[in-house]
Amino acid sequence: MSVDPLIEVKDLKVHFHTEDGVARAVDGVGFSIAPERTLGVVGESGCGKSVTARAVMGLIEAPGKIEQGEILLRHNGRTVDIAKLDPRGAEIRGIRGTEIAMIFQEPMTSLNPVFRIGDQIVEAILLHEKIGRAAARERAVELLAAVGIPLPRQRFEQFPHQLSGGMRQRAMIAMAMSCNPKLLIADEPTTALDVTIQAQVMDLMNALRRDFNTAIMFITHDLGVIAGMADDVVVMYLGRIVESGPVREIFRNPKHPYTQGLMGSIPSLADWGVRRLTAIDGVVPSPFAVPQGCGFAPRCPHAMEICRTRSPDLAEVAPGHAAACFLNQVPT
Ligand code: SF4
Repeated sequence: MSVDPLIEVKDLKVHFHTEDGVARAVDGVGFSIAPERTLGVVGESGCGKSVTARAVMGLIEAPGKIEQGEILLRHNGRTVDIAKLDPRGAEIRGIRGTEIAMIFQEPMTSLNPVFRIGDQIVEAILLHEKIGRAAARERAVELLAAVGIPLPRQRFEQFPHQLSGGMRQRAMIAMAMSCNPKLLIADEPTTALDVTIQAQVMDLMNALRRDFNTAIMFITHDLGVIAGMADDVVVMYLGRIVESGPVREIFRNPKHPYTQGLMGSIPSLADWGVRRLTAIDGVVPSPFAVPQGCGFAPRCPHAMEICRTRSPDLAEVAPGHAAACFLNQVPT
C-alpha cells in the first residue's frame, strides 16, 4: 500500500547570483519522503545536497534564489509549497522546528556556547508549545534521557563545552526533536565523530524515527553510512540526481558510474587484502563552470562521444530505480 508523501520536491532549481556568475547549485531535483521513511542523500561536497536541505527548510536567502520548482509539505491537513513562502515570514517560522527540524555536522553551529544545554532545549520547546516553564524543563530532561545522555538532570545544567562531541550531537538531536518534528533533516550528522560514536548516533536516529514516527532526510558524502540507515537513496552530482532507488537495489545493482565509483571507495572487512579501494579521478567541477553534456563526463571511465554534448535524463532502469546515464538508455 503506497502512503502519501510527507514532503514532495518537484523540479527544484536553486541558483546563486554572484559577481562571478550564476552557480546552479541545485538544477532540477525531485524526490519525495513518506512518513517514517529515511531518504539518504549522497554525494561529494559541492553536489548540492546541503543547498537542497536548506531549500526544504525555507532557508535560501540572497544571493541564492529558488528559480523554479515546488517543495510541497503536507501540513495541518493541507499542502504548503515551501518554495513560495517568504524565508523570514511567519508561516515558515511556524513550520521550522514544529514540522521540520535540522541537525548539522558541527553541533556548535546550533548550540549557543554561553547558555546551558537544558535552557537551550527549554527555549526551543517554549518557542513552539504553549506549556509552562516547569513542564518544558521536565520535557527537556526527558528528551536528554531519550537520546541516551546519562545523568540528564546534571547534563541539563552544563554548558556545551563541558560535553564530549558525541554528547553534544545527542543534545542537538534532543533539541531538534523537542517539538516532535514530522521531518528531521540531518546534514552530515556523524562526520565529525569517531566510528563507535557514529554508530551510536545512527542507532539513536533509527530509534527516534520508530518512537516519534519521524521521517528523516539523511545527508552524507559516505555511501557506506547510508546502508544501515536509509530506505531509499538519491545520489547527487553537480546539482542533479544521477541515481535514485531503494537502498538495497542501489547497493546490489548500481547503474551510474558515479554511484559505482562511490561504492568502490567503501572499505569492507570481507574484501580486506583482496580488493583495492578505488577513488574517483578528478574533482567535482565548479558550479560556475558546469561542463557541456553529462556533468560527470570529465571523470567518467565510460564516457562516450555523446556524453560530451548531451545530458542524459533520469530514466527508470528497474521498478523504482532510475539512473541518468547513456549506458542504460538508448539516446533519442
Ligand atoms: Fe559516463 Fe556518459 Fe554515463 Fe555520463 S552519460 S555517466 S559520461 S557513460
